[in-house]
Amino acid sequence: MSKIISIKAREVLDSRGNPTVEVDLVTEQGIFRSMTPSGASAGQHEALELRDKDNTRYFGKGTLKAVANVNKKIAPKIVGLDCIHQETIDNIMLKLDGTENKDKFGANAILPVSMAVTKAGAVAKNLPLYEYIGVLFGVIPHKLPVPMCNVINGGKHAGQENSIQEHMLMPTGAKSFSEGIRYVSESYQHLAKLLKEKFGAGGVLIGDEGGYAPPQISTVNERLDLMLKAVENSGYKDLMHIALDPASSEFFYDGKYKIGNKTFSGGEMVDFYVDLCKTYPIISIEDGLAEDDWASWVELTKKIGTEVQIVGDDLFVTNTKRIEKGIKMGAANSVLIKLNQIGTVTETLNAIKMAHDQGWTAVVSHRSGETEDNFIADLVVGTSSGQIKTGAPARSDRNAKYNQLLRIEEQLGEKAEYPGIDFRMDHLA
Ligand code: PEP
Ligand code: MG
Repeated sequence: MSKIISIKAREVLDSRGNPTVEVDLVTEQGIFRSMTPSGASAGQHEALELRDKDNTRYFGKGTLKAVANVNKKIAPKIVGLDCIHQETIDNIMLKLDGTENKDKFGANAILPVSMAVTKAGAVAKNLPLYEYIGVLFGVIPHKLPVPMCNVINGGKHAGQENSIQEHMLMPTGAKSFSEGIRYVSESYQHLAKLLKEKFGAGGVLIGDEGGYAPPQISTVNERLDLMLKAVENSGYKDLMHIALDPASSEFFYDGKYKIGNKTFSGGEMVDFYVDLCKTYPIISIEDGLAEDDWASWVELTKKIGTEVQIVGDDLFVTNTKRIEKGIKMGAANSVLIKLNQIGTVTETLNAIKMAHDQGWTAVVSHRSGETEDNFIADLVVGTSSGQIKTGAPARSDRNAKYNQLLRIEEQLGEKAEYPGIDFRMDHLA
């Protein structure tokens, strides 16, 4: 028995300087701390992120209501329970909230409690966190993820409107995670050199996820050309692929997509990606279409889904109901996984399970507003998901995750596997 002795939430700051919720959960074995991340290009169907809406504090973004919900409403019902009962505790919180969307407590209140329970459970079982998550999920974990590293930030994360949000490098030709992250880091430094040569200091402005956000270039072709040049200058040509997250719900207005001064119908948007994939080594496209434009998703998956991973983020919001619909329709072949889109560890594991059972991939992801909490590093290994998206290899909020993966790889030693180009399930290869 490893009883939860106390739970205390407080308001702290995230990587953008906005308030978020931190929870300290105490058992006899120690203090277990978790923090909630926060999205900027959040999907409309995500669980509620409760903000105070008191404009005298943090522009209305305060989280004191969510903090009070943890301290006054959740803690009294959870203290005294055994932290190894993850699903039971998550279900108690869901029941107490009692709404479809976590409207009563806020997912930002429920999630840090849920993650802290997992951390405490791991120590109670005397297991590393990834191994304990493996027990909860039902795998023996030894797969490190291929990182998706967002080296050029656009869209909302870079203060730019109507542009593709994330331009990522995937070190598919590396032999290990540590080698892969080195390829990306060196390419990121080469990219800085190219941008400085071209635009001076203004070329290396940084976006929310640590990638460069040069305001001088806006077309995706220019951005990808520079990235590939940086990869070549680093000596890793043909060892990297490109992944994109256009986050297209952000540039979808009245049934049309708008990139720069060009307007596209759903079908034209699909053709745009098909052409782009002919020109560049693009292996994954997330949110290429808007969160409710299901028909265009089906069209894109039909056209290029056998060669390219089609990932639903705002489309699925880590919610098994929406994932199930997507599976039935053939709307994608991969799910982005963000804990705070759904609000508990148990529901997150169920979302990954549903994807895997279908032979789809699952990509574990950070949010643009992050913290030093590196839970997702253990989550991606513990679920054998094989891919993580957690920003550029820069800024401690992003590198907290990559650094934890380096530690896990070291700990796994000979047992560690790195999927490289085989990160997709066999049926897609
Ligand atoms: C994303 O869209 O995948 C993302 C990480 O951004 P945000 O957290 O702003 O939703
Ligand atoms: Mg996304």
